[in-house]
Amino acid sequence: MRCTSCKSGEMQESKTSYFAQLKSCYVIIENVPCLKCTQCGDEVFRGSVVEKIDDILDNLEKIVSKISIIDYSKVA
Ligand SMILES: [Zn+2]
Repeated sequence: MRCTSCKSGEMQESKTSYFAQLKSCYVIIENVPCLKCTQCGDEVFRGSVVEKIDDILDNLEKIVSKISIIDYSKVA
């Protein structure tokens, strides 16, 4: 798969950290599977991963206080 940003790099399986700012808190999800460009380092998530992150954030909003760090591989 070609990178959509630089059009020359190759997208490869990788892992990244996802940062989100919710209404009253910050969330960091670690070890999120993504595709990363070998050229420019651009990262994209698959649809299924985006949905899962939405799920995680929905559930979290009810329980977290200020800052949360979550390991994706433990909640997915
Ligand atoms: Zn690229």
